Amino acid sequence: MRFRSTFEQRENRTLAEANVEQQRAAHYAFLGSLMPELIGRLSWSRAQIEAHRTTAFRDLLRHVRAHSPWHARRAAHLDPSTATLADIVRLPSMNKSDLMENWDEIVTIPGASRREAEEALRKMTDQFYIWGDNVLFASGGTGGRPGLFLYDWSALAMTWGGMNRGFVKSLAPLAGRGIEVPQQVRTASIGAEMSAHGSYVVGRIFSNPLNPTHRLSAWRSADELIPQLNAIQPHFLFCYPSLILALAAAAKAGELKIEPRVVYVGAERLPDASRQLARRTWPQADILTCWGTSEGGGTFPCPCGDGFHVSEDLVIIEPVDSAGAAVAPGQRSSGIYFTNLVNKALPIIRYFIDDIFEMDDGPCVCGSSYQKVRQVHGRTVEIFHYGEISVRPTILELAVLEQLHILEYQIRQTPRGAHLAYRSQGEIDAARLSAKMRQALLSYGLQEPEITIEKIALLERTAVGKLKHFVPLPP
Ligand SMILES: [Zn+2]
Repeated sequence: MRFRSTFEQRENRTLAEANVEQQRAAHYAFLGSLMPELIGRLSWSRAQIEAHRTTAFRDLLRHVRAHSPWHARRAAHLDPSTATLADIVRLPSMNKSDLMENWDEIVTIPGASRREAEEALRKMTDQFYIWGDNVLFASGGTGGRPGLFLYDWSALAMTWGGMNRGFVKSLAPLAGRGIEVPQQVRTASIGAEMSAHGSYVVGRIFSNPLNPTHRLSAWRSADELIPQLNAIQPHFLFCYPSLILALAAAAKAGELKIEPRVVYVGAERLPDASRQLARRTWPQADILTCWGTSEGGGTFPCPCGDGFHVSEDLVIIEPVDSAGAAVAPGQRSSGIYFTNLVNKALPIIRYFIDDIFEMDDGPCVCGSSYQKVRQVHGRTVEIFHYGEISVRPTILELAVLEQLHILEYQIRQTPRGAHLAYRSQGEIDAARLSAKMRQALLSYGLQEPEITIEKIALLERTAVGKLKHFVPLPP
């Protein structure tokens, strides 16, 4: 009997795995069916974008009033048949704690609960569908506590497609070399290891079953990654900006020999010096970046390679100051309110994210009518506070980035200055480096700042393989 039951269990598991494979393949095919529409929207005029957003906003209001008790109470004073986008400011904002504490009243899938979701996540290995065709994943704990996100089938594909449509123009020249786009595009992604994190889950679902993405772990050292990349010869390379320095050094040393058409650096802020370095290293490639969030993607790369655009057909991003008032283009915000117009499973409306946005107000050279983001300047939570003085650590980073032999670094706030931990290959000019960092703090008015510098062998990455570049002291 014992043998038989073990055998049956294995049979069942194999069947479940096969079902997930099929579900993923169907999801990938569904994404393919959406792409012509999503790409077509890139040429929309401002009027078309606005009309679509108004309809989508009204649909969202109607949906939450019928299916999400928590949102329904908060949106009770808006009439879904007449509301306009300007009315969004009449809705209260929410944050990650609100989402997690009211999850069961926010979610709109019948029978879904946070308790069951958390239990499922603990047991999930390589399986992310739950309650039918919905997809569950966790976000990192960078905002204090981890978030738990649920997407419906269509919204997940829209979100992924909405970001990926920004690569179409850059990949198009491959067709001239006889490479079918996207079917034959070789993609290497250096990111999260297998996990319940969105970046892994979504990337895995939308990997072409006939031409899977080569998934490399950001936890591995460059010595391990380089032979793999040389073997793959990716047309499309994704990596975190914190890996650019090490990969560029390997390319310069003649160890890394790849000729990607697109180098897409995302998931962390991309310093301009790293972007320039990537351009010099792979002159034949488009170096693209964009910003995304577990709450609903959000942007697509500008094909001109400088900045990115808000996917205004899918989301609403409102840059706000610390009091929640709107911040004009050209000014730095304290954060944003994020609204997901497409995900009906777990509606996200005016959700606060503390990324510092700077919008562009002029039309973009690429011709797009979608709102351009000039830069996301890190997170408010990363700012170093010394009494009354607040220092953006990106100013300290400038001194680090001009040292070409530094491969990875972390700048930690100390009570009277900053500590730099770095990994390097070759000599660095420590005197110049600390003098420039000290100068940067002096320019903010900090008296007699103390800078310490330490070379180390390994910098810890987060659970998904990201590197925390700035570590403020706890308040
Ligand atoms: Zn553009």
